[in-house]
Amino acid sequence: MPPESLRCKECKTPYPLEARFVCERCFGPLEIAYGSLDADPAELRRRIHGGPRSLWRYADFLPVAAPPPPALEAGFTPLLRADRLAEKLRLEEVWIKNDAANPTHSFKDRVVSVALARARELGFDTLACASTGNLANAVAAHAAAAGLHAYVFIPADLEEQKVLATGVYSPRVVAVDGTYDDVNRLCTELSSEHDWAFANINMRPYYAEGSKTLAFETAEQLSFTLPDRVVCPIASGSLFTKLARGFEEWLSAGLVGGEMPVFCGAQATGCSPVAIAFGEGHDFCRPVKPDTIAKSLAIGNPADGSYALDLARRTGGTIEAVSDEEIVAGIHLLATTTGIFTETAGGVTIAVLKQLAERGEIDRSERVVAYITGDGLKTLDCVRDSFSTWQIEPSVESFERVAGELAVPA
Ligand SMILES: *Cc1c(COP(=O)(O)O)cnc(C)c1O
Ligand SMILES: [Zn+2]
Repeated sequence: MPPESLRCKECKTPYPLEARFVCERCFGPLEIAYGSLDADPAELRRRIHGGPRSLWRYADFLPVAAPPPPALEAGFTPLLRADRLAEKLRLEEVWIKNDAANPTHSFKDRVVSVALARARELGFDTLACASTGNLANAVAAHAAAAGLHAYVFIPADLEEQKVLATGVYSPRVVAVDGTYDDVNRLCTELSSEHDWAFANINMRPYYAEGSKTLAFETAEQLSFTLPDRVVCPIASGSLFTKLARGFEEWLSAGLVGGEMPVFCGAQATGCSPVAIAFGEGHDFCRPVKPDTIAKSLAIGNPADGSYALDLARRTGGTIEAVSDEEIVAGIHLLATTTGIFTETAGGVTIAVLKQLAERGEIDRSERVVAYITGDGLKTLDCVRDSFSTWQIEPSVESFERVAGELAVPA
């Protein structure tokens, strides 16, 4: 599908494929409009199979003139069948899409790959972003790999692990005294003053398209079939809505058949503007001030909130919120049943999956895919003191003294 123009999502006004994100007529968001596909499903499948082992195997569905030279390749992450987790939840078929297995350990490598590729085509030499943490990490790494300058703006209270994992690439790290929403507002102003490619602001239409590749990969890994239901975290709502767009594009291309999956969104109670609006039956989100350990999802004024609400409703899904305690329990549940250690955002996803399963909202026979979007090593502090250790002398006697306490219950 050759990218043809940018187009306003609301009033459909077209714009050239430049670094711009908002409609001059109605202030609606811009997205990519594609031309029609030049290949049948068999040919598309051949191109995908013949492509690289990265998200660029789906280049036919991405808004770049050509895939960039290989650098820090994102995507092609594992989709694991999680039978032990499924059993705990009394379900039959649960899959974990582990997008922590990306170069900088979160799904943000996908969106940055696409934004950066387009930014280079447009001639930018500086990549920037407003970040809740993972985006800063990905922007810093991908800019370093491509030899671009990087400016990353983060809320000053971000987890230290994320700041350290970003600083190592030597971007300009600017810690802003304020929430993510303050950082985003500042960067929106800066984007009109500086000739920088802000991944999630003036490059947002391209950035957002990167999330579709999570849908493509899921379908390819399920042998070109679709899940019945997906559970996916929501910050701005971009990933959630573009996951749907990915499945829709493959349905209309004839690459998969059947029905759209049921879309279930996951938020933390301490920042759940979309879950609240869903529960109250509203079409728009009222902004909130975030207070949660799930900092990568702490967006109080989500740009794609109303589209996320519409998607959950039209697929028969829901948008739910879980407490910080449930998030930590979700992290443990995933770790102890699959061996995957996820960050707080993944804890949100698993806790919502558990809540839906326990409420009986998921039919036992459904095929469910849960999206794990980030790595537990980035939010280590939230599991501190959530388990015990035993300190002993290096002697058998010393071990025997605690052995009773350590015995695994039958
Ligand atoms: C950015 C992010 C998301 C989703 O963000 P959206 O703004 O909704 O696209 C989910 N999980 C993690 C770990 C993230 O960093
Ligand atoms: Zn418009």
